[in-house]
Amino acid sequence: MKTKQHKNVSKEIQSPKGMRDIMNEEYYNFQGFFEKAQEIAMYYGFKPIETPMLEYERVFTSGIGEGTDIVDKEMYTLKTKGEDALALRPEHTASLMRAYIEHGMQTMPQPVMLYQYGPIFRHDNPQRGRYRQFYQFDLDCLGNGKSILDALVIKVIMNILEEAGAQNLSVDINSIGDKECRHGYLKELTSYYRKHINSLPVIDRERLKTNPLRILDSKEIKTKEINENAPDSISFLCPSCKGHFSEVLEYLEEMNIPYNINKNLVRGLSYYTRTVFEIIEEKNEDGSLPLALAGGGRYDYLARQIGSKKDVPAVGVSIGVDRIIAAPWYKKLSPRIIKKPKIYFVQLGAEAKLKSLNVIEILRKAHIPITQSLSKDNLGSQLAAAEKLGVPYVLIFGLKEALSDSVIVRDMSNRSQDTIKLSKLLDYLKELK
Ligand code: AMP
Repeated sequence: MKTKQHKNVSKEIQSPKGMRDIMNEEYYNFQGFFEKAQEIAMYYGFKPIETPMLEYERVFTSGIGEGTDIVDKEMYTLKTKGEDALALRPEHTASLMRAYIEHGMQTMPQPVMLYQYGPIFRHDNPQRGRYRQFYQFDLDCLGNGKSILDALVIKVIMNILEEAGAQNLSVDINSIGDKECRHGYLKELTSYYRKHINSLPVIDRERLKTNPLRILDSKEIKTKEINENAPDSISFLCPSCKGHFSEVLEYLEEMNIPYNINKNLVRGLSYYTRTVFEIIEEKNEDGSLPLALAGGGRYDYLARQIGSKKDVPAVGVSIGVDRIIAAPWYKKLSPRIIKKPKIYFVQLGAEAKLKSLNVIEILRKAHIPITQSLSKDNLGSQLAAAEKLGVPYVLIFGLKEALSDSVIVRDMSNRSQDTIKLSKLLDYLKELK
C-alpha cells in the first residue's frame, strides 16, 4: 500500500486514494521484472507496443461490454473541452485490438505477436494487493485462431512467473464456446438461474438480466451453492470448440503444465470466446489461499465489437505485476542498469570542484558507476558517507590533484592509497578487483 506520509506534511499533499509513488527498491523491482518479462517475450518472437493511457470511452464500453464491473463501475472517464468522451484504460486488450485495426496489421504476417507493459486504472475499493493504478504486462497473438497460440501464451507467461520466483503454478482453464454453441448454453444457464431466482442475491439477479455468465464467478455464498449444479459450458461445446479445447489441453500435457478444468471460470469480460484461463499459485506452505497471478483467454469477436468489419481471432494474457513484486517469493530481479558503485568520489576545494564533473565523465564513459556528494565541501563528512555505504574505493580529488591532473585512489579495506594520473586512471581501476 502507500508508504507512510511524512509526519509534518499536510493531509492535502497526498496522491489520490489507491494510487502511489513508485520509488526506491520498489521501482527497481518493477523495472527488473519488466526487463526479464520483455527478454523472455522477445525469445518467443513477441514485439513491443505501447498504446495511449487514454482511449475513446467507446473502445472499452463496446469492447469489454456493459454488464461488466470494469465498464459499469470501475472506469475513470472524462469529457475533454472539445466534448470527446475519453477513458483511462482499465485493461490493455481493447486498446491493443483498436491499434491492430487502426494500423491495418491484418496485412502483416499473422499472427501479430505483441507485448505491452504499463499502468491500468480501475476505480475499485483499494485493499491489500488491489490498487486503483496498477501495472500489467500483457502478451497477445492476434490474427490467428489456432489452439497452439492459446498454449503458447500460457507457456510464456508461466516461464515469466517462474523466472520471477513463483513455484507450484497451475492453470485453471475452461472453454466458454463460440457464437455457435454459446447461445444454447446461455439459454440453459438462464433458465437454470430463473428456477433459483428466489434464492439468488440481488446483485446476481441483476446479472441475470445483463450478463448471466458472470453469475458463475459470483463471490456470493448463496450463489456459490447454486452454482454447484449449474449447467457447464463444456457440455454444450460444438464439435469445433470441443476440438479446439482438447488440443489446448493436449499441448499443456505435452509441456507437463499442470491444469485444472474449472467450469465456473468465465473471467467477467464479455469479449472472451473459447479458452479462458488463470495462472494460479497453488496452496502455499504458509496455508494462504491460491492466488491468481495472471489471467487471459481467447477473444475472437472483440474486433467486431469495437467496429471492425471482420473478426480477428486472438488470444492473450495479463500479469498483475504489483502482486508479483510484493510476493514473498519474488526474486528481486535487478534491472540491467543497476550496478552497485564500487567507487565514491570525494572532492576538496573550489579548484577541484570546478573540474570534478570532468573526472566523473571519464568514469561514466568507461561505464564505471560512482557515488558522490558533490554538494559537500568537507573531507570528513564525504569520507564518512563513503564509509557508511561500504564502498571499497574512494577517489580523492583536491587542489594538488586538480593542478597535476591526477587523483588519489584509496583502498578502504586497509586505508592504503596511490596517486594516479587521470590519463592512467582507467587502467589502474581495471587492475583492482
Ligand atoms: P484482470 O485484468 O482483472 O484479469 O487481472 C489480471 C491480473 O491483474 C490479476 O491476476 C491481478 O494479478 C492483477 N490485478 C487486477 N486488478 C488489480 C488491482 N486493482 N490492483 C492490482 N492488481 C490487479
